[in-house]
Amino acid sequence: MSAVARNVLAFSEDRGLLIQLLGKGNELADSLGGELNVLLVGSNISDPGEPARYGSTKTLVADGPGFEHFSVEAYRAAFLKAVEASEPGIILIGATKRGKELAARVAAALDTGCMTECLSLEVDEEGNLMGERLTYAGSTISTEVSRKTPHIATIPARAFEKPEPSEGVCEIVTLDVSIPDPRVKVVERRDKAKGDTGLEDAPIIVSAGRGFKAKEDLKILEELAGVLGAKVGCSRPISADLGWMEEWIGISGRKVSPKLYFACGISGTIQHAAGIRDSQIIVSINKEESANIHEISDYSIVGDLYAVLPALVKALKEKIG
Ligand SMILES: Cc1cc2nc3c(=O)[nH]c(=O)nc-3n(C[C@H](O)[C@H](O)[C@H](O)COP(=O)(O)OP(=O)(O)OC[C@H]3O[C@@H](n4cnc5c(N)ncnc54)[C@H](O)[C@@H]3O)c2cc1C
Repeated sequence: MSAVARNVLAFSEDRGLLIQLLGKGNELADSLGGELNVLLVGSNISDPGEPARYGSTKTLVADGPGFEHFSVEAYRAAFLKAVEASEPGIILIGATKRGKELAARVAAALDTGCMTECLSLEVDEEGNLMGERLTYAGSTISTEVSRKTPHIATIPARAFEKPEPSEGVCEIVTLDVSIPDPRVKVVERRDKAKGDTGLEDAPIIVSAGRGFKAKEDLKILEELAGVLGAKVGCSRPISADLGWMEEWIGISGRKVSPKLYFACGISGTIQHAAGIRDSQIIVSINKEESANIHEISDYSIVGDLYAVLPALVKALKEKIG
């Protein structure tokens, strides 16, 4: 590693998330007086020139059949080669399940730290990387400073805006990686049966909590969803305990960021609130005035959802037609 490492190296196996990292990556590289580099790993990698359109000056490519499926040992080997080639002062990794596993391994190999799930990042006056992350299930924000280079941070989806593309060319460097013999043998791969709920991208979500007494009653929520063109979500007990829906919203479920979120019969525990905090407008319907959900709502309706929802659907139908 050079005495002053000024480059920023970005990686995510999820190309959409990788692009989101590049706007911030460029900003950080400017702060350090270095360049933005990108690592792509895979088999038959498509469009390796794409990161150049988002500011990458050098794209390091590890392409081969050994990278077709994610193996943390193989990806770690590629990563360490990329670090040799880029000499980064900062490493940004998309905080997917795989990205987080890889980040920990890379940090250990480089004998440095790792700040996980950063929602903001900047270079402080001493040239260290400073990041904000949610703690205590999202009820507080902690500010952390990484004091050892290369600084490593993982970044969740939608923490940073996707930058606008521009004309860009970059050097593309093929990495020669020798993949270590795997210590874990994958005996079978099966596609996940669950479909995409579409909740993460939905502009409007109406959500059910334990205030609903029976599965059939969800009809009134589905009617509201129909009128608003919304997706239907729920709190964890509705899915995990009662099995009325496949997936739930919250810290252990889907994290959503709609323009409008209706919480119906949901108490608003921190585990649920952590998954909806990025919603632009939260409307709650809860019969208890003291329910926590009202505290994080922009509009609160204190009332029985069995009376409020049909009235709301009727009013909206009259208004929207
Ligand atoms: C490790 C861990 C992770 C978790 N992760 C998640 C997560 O990701 N997402 C999540 O949602 N939960 C999660 N939970 C569970 C969480 O702690 C709560 O138990 C759960 O969010 C409560 O769901 P609820 O609001 O639907 O039910 P309740 O807390 O039982 O609330 C029901 C609400 O409905 C209201 N109500 C009742 N009847 C009516 C009516 N007729 N009209 C209007 N209002 C009515 C009540 O006043 C009450 O506020 C997690 C828990 C743990 C321990």
